[in-house]
Amino acid sequence: RIVLEKIWKEEPMGKIFKGREVADNISEKLVKRVDELKKKGKSPTLAILRVGVNPSDLAYERGAVNRAEKIGVKTRILELDETSTTDEVLEKIDVLNSDDTVHGVLIFRPLPKHIDDDKVRNRLKADKDVDGIGDVSMAKIYRGDTSGFAPCTAKACIEILKHFDVEIKGKKAVVIGRSMVIGKPVAMMLLNENATVTICHSKSEKLSKIIAENEIVISAVGRANTVTAECTCGNQKIIDVGINVHESGKMVGDVDFENVFGEVYGITPVPGGVGAVTTSILIDHVVRAAEMDCNRK
Ligand code: NAP
Repeated sequence: RIVLEKIWKEEPMGKIFKGREVADNISEKLVKRVDELKKKGKSPTLAILRVGVNPSDLAYERGAVNRAEKIGVKTRILELDETSTTDEVLEKIDVLNSDDTVHGVLIFRPLPKHIDDDKVRNRLKADKDVDGIGDVSMAKIYRGDTSGFAPCTAKACIEILKHFDVEIKGKKAVVIGRSMVIGKPVAMMLLNENATVTICHSKSEKLSKIIAENEIVISAVGRANTVTAECTCGNQKIIDVGINVHESGKMVGDVDFENVFGEVYGITPVPGGVGAVTTSILIDHVVRAAEMDCNRK
């Protein structure tokens, strides 16, 4: 019995795909690339445009600024009052578009309801669209053109799979959620990696059965217990994008982690999974934007 317990402790049944490990690996490589850029006189810079003071935007902003500082990327924060008009936001974007010292721009969305989201997201130059919000960036993902920037959370899902050597090519993958921010782009990115992809949503029938049939499961719903132990089995790799706050105040994902972990090959925790990787991807995009700018000149 003692021997069995020892084996179990050393070789747990489920792997935890820890975001921190992926993020640190990305950051380590970025430090070297930033040094190279600085030798060429270029200091990669991210501008953050925020309308209002939404607490979750502020939390993400702090994380992005910290990550950028550690890597040597400069940040500049532009805060607009939440009563700002669409034209005022567009004016700021025009200034950032023409500022050669800014290489990437992050615009927090959703914007206040009175602001025209389509105008805002498509005003930003594609070269600086480091969170892939514009139609040009999105079209590139659909075409399988890797010269643009994908939405950072969607890209984080793919990077986690790659970091933990999960084979995507030829595998069946299901994405639960079809938003333009995560579900649709991550499904296209899996397709570009040659997975066989199914997309599910709130009207999908027999969701549990579909989940059980797929080796890779990406859940981006925003509903706790969307993925339970009933629909999971040994070989599955699960990426939990969802963020839900439990009645007790505890943050949980879409997956019933406690009961699913141990039943599957691997799973991302919440917190400490996808969210931990997203800011590293953002900074990676800023560095790539600065490198592309360097190559153009
Ligand atoms: P969203 O725009 O609300 O989209 C949610 C999607 O889930 C929709 O496509 C919806 O289907 C689908 N859905 C809702 N109920 C469902 C059900 N019962 N069964 C199957 N599908 C269902 O949300 P989002 O912006 O994509 O974000 C998804 C989650 O990711 C949220 O919890 C969000 O907080 C989290 N998030 C995490 C990060 C991170 O870094 N970890 C970043 C951003 C967002 P319909 O299209 O039919 O309505």
